[in-house]
Amino acid sequence: MPRVPDRSLPLLANDHPVTRDAALARLDEFVPRAGPAYAGGRNHDHGPGRHDAVSRLSAALARRTLTEAEVLSPVVALHASGADAFVREVFWRGYFRGWIEARPVIWQGWLGALDRIDARLAQDDALAARHLAAVRGATGIACFDHWMHELAQTGYLHNWARMQVASIWIFTLGLPWELGARHFLDHLVDADAASNTLSWRWVAGLHTPGKAYLADATRIARMTAGRFVPIGLAAHARIPDAPPHPPAAPPRQPTAIAEGVPTLLWITPADCSLEREPALAALLVRAVAIIDPDGAAAGHGAQADRIALDDALARAAARWRVPACRVAGIEALAALAEEIGARQVVTGRIGVGPGMGTLIAARGALRRAGIALAEHVRAWDRAVWPHATRGFFALRDHIPHVLAEMVG
Ligand SMILES: Cc1cc2nc3c(=O)[nH]c(=O)nc-3n(C[C@H](O)[C@H](O)[C@H](O)COP(=O)(O)OP(=O)(O)OC[C@H]3O[C@@H](n4cnc5c(N)ncnc54)[C@H](O)[C@@H]3O)c2cc1C
Repeated sequence: MPRVPDRSLPLLANDHPVTRDAALARLDEFVPRAGPAYAGGRNHDHGPGRHDAVSRLSAALARRTLTEAEVLSPVVALHASGADAFVREVFWRGYFRGWIEARPVIWQGWLGALDRIDARLAQDDALAARHLAAVRGATGIACFDHWMHELAQTGYLHNWARMQVASIWIFTLGLPWELGARHFLDHLVDADAASNTLSWRWVAGLHTPGKAYLADATRIARMTAGRFVPIGLAAHARIPDAPPHPPAAPPRQPTAIAEGVPTLLWITPADCSLEREPALAALLVRAVAIIDPDGAAAGHGAQADRIALDDALARAAARWRVPACRVAGIEALAALAEEIGARQVVTGRIGVGPGMGTLIAARGALRRAGIALAEHVRAWDRAVWPHATRGFFALRDHIPHVLAEMVG
C-alpha cells in the first residue's frame, strides 16, 4: 500500500496535547474563546499552525485524557448558551460513537470492503495511479494537495478541511471513500474509528441517506481567505451504492466489575484517565499496566498513544500507590495478572474499532488463566448513546438534559 512518508513529527504535546497537564493547559487557554469567537471562526481554515479558532483537544478527547464533561464544564460555566456551537460539536463525538456501537456491522463492513478494494487496486492501474496521486498530495488540485501534506506532516486537519478533502476524494477524484477513511485513520493524531468512519460516510451521502457534502470552489476561496480557488471540482455528487442502515441494536454489554477482588488495572488508548473515576475509587488495584505500544509503529497517532499511555500509567500508579508495569503483549498481561494474584483485569470500555481485536485476544488469554476481563462504562456514554441511534437532531434535543445531569 502506498503511504505518505512521515516527515519531521511535530511536538505533539504542544500542538495536540495528550498528557493530562498539557491538555488541561490547552483547555484553560481555550475556554474564553469557546463562545461567540468559536461560533464565528470555527469554519475558517487559516493554514497549518494557525488553527487557533478551534480547541485542538481532539487527540486528548479521543483517548479520554480529558473527558467530554471536563471540557464542557468550564465552557458552559463561562459562556452558558453562548457556547452552544462548541457544545454541539463535542456532542457529535458521542453521537458518532453511540451510533456505531449500535451498528458494529458498519465497521466490519468497512474492513471487508477494504479487502475487496485492495484486490481491485492490484488489478486496476488507473485506479491505483489516482489513489497514489491522492495519498502523495500530487493530484494538481492545489487545496487538496496542500491538505494532504498538512495531514502527513502534522497529523491534523481542521474539521472543515477534512470535509473538503473527503468530498474531493470521493466525488472529484472518484476514489472509494473506504480508502480515504483508512488514509485518515493511519495519519490522524486523533484517529477515532467512530468519528472517522461515520464522517466519511456522511460526506459520501451514506450516513444521512441521499444527502452528500459537495465541496464548492467559491466556499473554499471564502473559507481560506482566497488562498485557494480550485477549478474542476465535481459539480454533482454521485453517491456510492450501499445497503440501507442495519437496525440499531443495544450496545455490547461488557463484563461488569467485581468489587473487593484483587485487580490489575489495564490502561489502553480507549480511556486514559481511569484514576479519576469515582466509581473505580474502591477497587483493590494491585498493579497498573499498559501493553507497550509497538515501538516501531510510526505516525502521529502511534506517537500520541505512546505519550498518552506513559502519562496515564504514571498517574494511575500514583493514585493507587502500586507498581506501574509495561508488558510486551497480551500473554505477558495475563502472566502479570496471575503473578500479582489478580482475580480480574479492569479496563476502560473498548469501543468498535481497531482495539476490538486486542480485547478479544486479551479476554481469551485471561479466561485461560481463570481471570475475568471487566470494562468500565462511563456515565457519559450511558447518558448519550441511547439518544444516538438515529440522526444527530434526535440527540440535540437531549443535550440540555445530558448537560444538566453530567456537567451541572
Ligand atoms: C472526514 C472526517 C474525518 C474525521 N475523523 C475524525 C477522527 O478520526 N477523530 C476525531 O476525533 N474526529 C474526526 N473528525 C471530526 C473533527 O474533524 C475533529 O474532531 C476536529 O476537527 C478536531 O479538532 P478540534 O479538537 O480542534 O475540534 P473543535 O472544533 O475544537 O471541537 C471540539 C471537539 O468536538 C468534537 N468534534 C468537533 N467536530 C466534530 C465532528 N465533526 N465530528 C465529531 N466530533 C467533533 C471533537 O471531540 C473536538 O475535539 C472527522 C471529521 C471529518 C469530516
